[in-house]
Amino acid sequence: MADPTGSTTSTAPTSHDDAPVILRAQNLTKHYPIKGGVLRRTVGHVRALEDVSFDLRAGETLGVVGESGCGKSTLGRMLMRLEEPTGGRLEFDGVDLYSLGRREMRRKRRDIQIVFQDPYTSLNPRKTVADLIGEPFDVHPDAVPRAGRRRRVQELMELVGLSPEHINRYPHQFSGGQRQRIGIARGIALNPKILVCDEPVSALDVSVQAQVINVMERLQRELGLAYVFIAHDLSVVRHIADRVAVMYLGRIVELGTEDEIYERPTHPYTRALLSAVPVPDPLARGTRQEIKLQGDVPSPANPPSGCRFHTRCWLARDVCSTDEPQLVERNDGRGEHRSACHFTEESVSGRTTP
Ligand code: SF4
Repeated sequence: MADPTGSTTSTAPTSHDDAPVILRAQNLTKHYPIKGGVLRRTVGHVRALEDVSFDLRAGETLGVVGESGCGKSTLGRMLMRLEEPTGGRLEFDGVDLYSLGRREMRRKRRDIQIVFQDPYTSLNPRKTVADLIGEPFDVHPDAVPRAGRRRRVQELMELVGLSPEHINRYPHQFSGGQRQRIGIARGIALNPKILVCDEPVSALDVSVQAQVINVMERLQRELGLAYVFIAHDLSVVRHIADRVAVMYLGRIVELGTEDEIYERPTHPYTRALLSAVPVPDPLARGTRQEIKLQGDVPSPANPPSGCRFHTRCWLARDVCSTDEPQLVERNDGRGEHRSACHFTEESVSGRTTP
């Protein structure tokens, strides 16, 4: 990978169609109460996540994209059960994680780990790399015998491309990219099956982003990890994802293979997001029309009726403000592709952009 933001093509992802589903989200919903008045009564709800459903197969990468506030980070926390759901199921290996008690959940959490966005704030500056990468062993002491922890931390450092000699250094003695490698090493310390990556490279320079993404791709091949890769940068997601979910105001509005989403987007919101991605090829740039969305993302405390995108959609008709579109198949035999829009690909693409 030379430049994640400057590429219009991606490396061909491996097909995981035959791999088993290891994580299944069904109608995941999260509402946060809004408290008001002297008595701090609930006066409303922030609808951060609404009826989100998807499958994740072993060894694949599901990219989750959308503007800030679309609910993608809430989704990441819910996959880790760092948030309790308002509704829905989350099945891992056939077990509903939300039905588990604390002790069982802690055992399951070994298999689903997270890498946070900001390597500058997610690492305790007073701890050495040995302590930071070894933290999961404090929570799961049976994972590695105490006598073998230091050796295991050094192995993990080598896996992510850090020098094991630096095991006693502190976070401030590393660059941003190296710190994120520390976060990744901590994330894979317990040999998880799934790594939830919440904007893992967005705080890094472009060239460093590419290095970290390369490490993640190599780890996926070597360890068979599945990633849920949450990001606002569509170019980065395109490079690493096998399948992509596009979110708007707490809902998935389009879901499909990387090729379908990037080459044949059908939802107007996806088309608008993609039209804003920089194109390095001047010839390709000349033929593309940028779609500038009007207005701001509405408040999730008071989302629009019907299609949540209708207040900004240049294709909206009356039905869009009253009837909520469901995610339905747009697949015509090329690959998985679902979209939540009342109109078909043909009727949408046949109309002019704003
Ligand atoms: Fe636009 Fe209507 Fe489709 Fe929503 S349902 S994306 S408002 S055309």
